[in-house]
Parts: sequence; structure tokens; C-alpha cells
Amino acid sequence: MRLLRLVDEPAGWHTERACLGTDIRLWFGPGEGEADEPRAERDKREGIAKTYCAECPFTAYCLELELAFPAYHQHGVRGGLTADERRAALRQRRAAERRAA
Ligand code: SF4
Repeated sequence: MRLLRLVDEPAGWHTERACLGTDIRLWFGPGEGEADEPRAERDKREGIAKTYCAECPFTAYCLELELAFPAYHQHGVRGGLTADERRAALRQRRAAERRAA
């Protein structure tokens, strides 16, 4: 797990993130015990969440924080990517690291 980025926290991270004050369901979908979310609704919700990330000044930092966690720990839209997209990014990074070794 890469922790280096955690000490490079940008000014405003705690007060100026585009997702501050939004409904957590926008980012992570229905809560535990709630009905499953149909794929079409999930796609729509994630698309809306990504519009916040697109306007956020911390997208790159946020994504690096999330990519410090393993694939099984990827949930919701963070850093402009869905959990599936971040898992794919982790696979690509691992493959690039293997090629470079
Ligand atoms: S990139 Fe997206 S998830 Fe990350 S802080 Fe910004 S709005 Fe929130």
C-alpha cells in the first residue's frame, strides 16, 4: 500500500471537495438492507457522481488515495472513477510494475 500521498494532502482537501455535503448514496448507492440498485440506475447515479469529480480540484489526489487500497476495498465513485474502473487501473499498474521489474 502506498502511503506517501497521504502526507501530501493538498490545502482545501477537507473544505473544498466537490462532494462535500452531497448524499452519500450518490457515491456508494443504496445502503445495507436497502433494495438492490438496477444497473441502469447505477450507471445514471455514477454518471452524476462523476460530474462532481470532473469539477473537483482534487480528483488526482483523491484517485491516488483510493488506489492505495487493494481491489477488494474499492467501493463507489471516487476520484472520478467507479470501483470497477479503479480495479482496472490497479490491474494496469500492477502489470506495468511487473513489466518494469
Ligand atoms: S474527486 Fe470526486 S470523490 Fe474525490 S473528493 Fe472530489 S468530488 Fe469527492
